Amino acid sequence: MNRQSAPAVPPPLVEARGLSKTYNHGALVAADDISFSIESGGALGIVGESGSGKTTVSRIVAGLERSDGGAVLIAGDPAPVGRGHRARMLRAKVMQMVFQDPYQSLDPRQSAREALAEIITLHTGLRGRERTARVGDLLDQVGLDAAASARMPRDLSGGQRQRVAIARALAAEPKLLILDEAVAALDVSIQAQILRLLDAIRRETGVALMFVSHDLEVVRWITDDVLVMFRGRAVEAGRTAEVLAEPEHAYTRLLLDSVPSPDWDPRAVSIARREFLTANV
Ligand code: ADP
Ligand code: MG
Repeated sequence: MNRQSAPAVPPPLVEARGLSKTYNHGALVAADDISFSIESGGALGIVGESGSGKTTVSRIVAGLERSDGGAVLIAGDPAPVGRGHRARMLRAKVMQMVFQDPYQSLDPRQSAREALAEIITLHTGLRGRERTARVGDLLDQVGLDAAASARMPRDLSGGQRQRVAIARALAAEPKLLILDEAVAALDVSIQAQILRLLDAIRRETGVALMFVSHDLEVVRWITDDVLVMFRGRAVEAGRTAEVLAEPEHAYTRLLLDSVPSPDWDPRAVSIARREFLTANV
């Protein structure tokens, strides 16, 4: 008999399997059995209040931190771990991080143009005219003009600096951008510009996004799927539109109620919050 095997489902671009991490000799659980997957071109939001473990999880996925348990898989294979050059370069080809504070990834003595040229050579080996062309493409992609590209980080606006950080992350042509509170420090109007930019880049290049934020409205706008974290645990996950329209978990409802709206009652929210936290110590 000629048995046909089921069509192979390709593994997700990146998968987190049961990630856990404690600090203070086990006293503080920053991540407890966190699992999710991100498909090629997908956009996953990780949302929760400050201290819920979002940064811990994103740093583990990016390979900047070791987990105590669990695994990160890239296209079905264990992600290269460690701080060695080879492991870092392999990971860098797949994923790049963008932080809240672009100063973390930008050299204060390098113009945007110089920073991009350096990182392009590191990842692609390009030099000379080809490299200049690639710098120009990246600057176009993130909407920076020639004048801005010649300035040092301190002479750029916050939004422009974040554009440079995004261009720098894209230079390696990664398949996933991990953005940890990447718009949190920006004015609301600039936030919107950067979000639109990221959405456009996702559509143009097919890069996937892992968007870490305390801000539900931002996550609602930019992601397709969401994972809600509370004290290191995943309390709810699903399609962003569905989870935010009909949250099943009390914590997600609390987060939603905390967003100011016309009929918002901050006092009721703070009472509900206190009750929830008392019941979940
Ligand atoms: P979030 O990004 O959601 O604000 P974090 O992942 O930064 O949360 O932190 C989760 C918890 O782990 C917090 O209680 C934080 O204080 C703690 N934590 C994070 N990093 C460290 C560290 N390096 N050492 C000790 N505790 C840490
Ligand atoms: Mg954080």
